[in-house]
This record gives sequence, C-alpha cells and structure tokens, in this order.
Amino acid sequence: MQKPSKLLRVLLAALALSGMSTLLTAPAYAEAPMAKTQVPGYYRIMVGSIEVTALLDGVMQLDKSLLQHAEDKKLNRALDRMFVGNPKMTTAVNAYLINTGKNLVLVDAGAAGLFGPTLGNLVQNLKAAGYSPEQVDRIVITHLHADHVGGINDQAGKPIFPNASVSVSQAENDFWLSKDIAAKASPAMQGFFQMAQASAAPYQASGQWKPIPGDGTGEIVPGITAVNASGHTPGHRIYIVESQGQKLVITGDMLHAHAIQFSNPGVAIQFDADQKKAIAMRRDILKRVANEKSLMSGAHLPFPGIGHVVPEGKGSYRWVPVEFNPTPSAAVANTAAAHANHAH
Ligand SMILES: [Zn+2]
Repeated sequence: MQKPSKLLRVLLAALALSGMSTLLTAPAYAEAPMAKTQVPGYYRIMVGSIEVTALLDGVMQLDKSLLQHAEDKKLNRALDRMFVGNPKMTTAVNAYLINTGKNLVLVDAGAAGLFGPTLGNLVQNLKAAGYSPEQVDRIVITHLHADHVGGINDQAGKPIFPNASVSVSQAENDFWLSKDIAAKASPAMQGFFQMAQASAAPYQASGQWKPIPGDGTGEIVPGITAVNASGHTPGHRIYIVESQGQKLVITGDMLHAHAIQFSNPGVAIQFDADQKKAIAMRRDILKRVANEKSLMSGAHLPFPGIGHVVPEGKGSYRWVPVEFNPTPSAAVANTAAAHANHAH
C-alpha cells in the first residue's frame, strides 16, 4: 500500500482535531426523499448580440393517426428509432423570448388552460428566467391556433401582458377572427375559431391587438423579421432573428413530429389547413436552413427546440439539437466556430 499523501494526512489530522472523524463511522443515510420536481423550463442562447430564451409551456400527447401521407410501417419504424411514444407522441409546446437590447419580444405564448393541464407553464418559466410579463413590449404569434395564442391570457381569460402589442399577419387575423368564416367552418374546426377569437378579444378591446399590415412580412423590430410561411394556416409566419452574422429561424408550426418529418418532410398533419402548401413550405425552409447552417427552432420540437438541420440526401434531413451550455454566449461561439470551419 502506498503511503497516504501529505494532503490526505493533513486532512485526516484536521478531521480528528475537529471531532468530525465520527462522521466517517456514522451510518450512511442513503434514503433521501425524492425531489419529484423538474428544473424550470427555460434555456438561453445568444444570437450575435441578441439574447434568446426558449420557454417551455409544457407537453401534449399527439396521436400518430393525425399524421398524413405516412405509411404505417415506416411511421412505426421512425417512431421506434427515435424512442417516441406510439401511438401517443409526446410533443413539446415552446415559445421564445427575444431581448434585442431595445425590445423584449415574445414569439408565441403557449396555451394557458385551453389545451389541458399539461400545458400553461409559460409565465412561470418566463419569471424563472428572470423576466416579468410587464416587461414584454411586443408579442408576435406565428399563427392563431390556441397552443400559440391562448397564453396571452391567464386561465380565467384575463390578459397577462399589459404593456405588449400583439401581432399576427393580417391574413391570419382576417381568417380566424372572421365571424363569417367561423360560421361556415366544420363543427370540428369551430373550437379553433372560438379559442382564437376569445384570446384576441381583451387585446382588441384595449387597442393592443395590432395585425402586421400588408402581406405580414418584413421587420418587426430591428433584429427580427417576419417571413411568409403559410400552409399550416392561411397566415402562418416564421420569424428570423439576426445579429452580427448569426441567425435563428423560429419556424412555429413548420413541423409537429420530429421523429418522421425531418427524414420525410412530405408527411403532413391533420391540422395543416393546406397540406400541399404546408409540405412545400417545410421542404423549402428545411433546405434553406440546412444550406445556411443557421440555427432553427420549432414550437413543437423537443425542448428547447433549438438546433441545426443536416441534409441527408434525397430531400431528407436530420435534426441536431443544441447542447446545454452553462454560459449562453459560449453556445454561439460553438456555432460560429462551426461556420468558420465550414467556410475553409
Ligand atoms: Zn402548434
């Protein structure tokens, strides 16, 4: 046996002197009570000089039968390969809080109480992330489905963001908030219209509801741009955060089932208002994001829903999620380094 090191001998002597050596012979208490709670649902990353905080509203279970143009055998194989539940696919609901230094912009707001008890944690996580709802001055919603707009109000339907204007594209506004279109919609769709209209109402009443005029694209605030991505809904928009040559493309509901829609972007979901258009939009954006090697996020990708897209050939892609990093700026350094390496 080796002689104990000098440090160890000093430590043992110190323990003996302080009487703490009794600890060494005391029985071990291994049965600690389980914590049974999770860490707060936020994740931070820098995009150039802009700080982006992913906020988790919660998770929901989507049945695989909602997916369209997916051969059952291939779908089962894709779900198994990614260890995703079958037939119920656990699906995150994410939103993104963007601090440009001048504006605090929330992209999507979760569901509050509209989609059941497993969602509605957005405000709690926003506060855990060090912000308050009063500080948010702009809210931009990708589209008016309740899991994106419901969370601008609390469970009782009272507005949560007193100082924010709320924007969607004019096309989205005119579709979901139209009493005429709602009246002609199928019974299955009625709920979607009701929830969109109830969510908008308090902000319309206070003058805070401000659709993006024209085609609903262009600069929202310096550093954030809206881009047309209709198909999932008539006025669906994605938002691009850009600073110092770095880019994050916030894609809203561009895809819902990561286990199959990256490898096969031709798979659609029943909620797509225009499936053909939604599929074309998904192919187009995946191609662009993969080519640019920019960061991408999705409202229904596993939290924090931020990562890169890698082309795998034949119109197929692979998702590479970001890694947890204790300092937000370092995460970008990795991305920048990856870009620089690729350029050589
Ligand atoms: Zn959604």
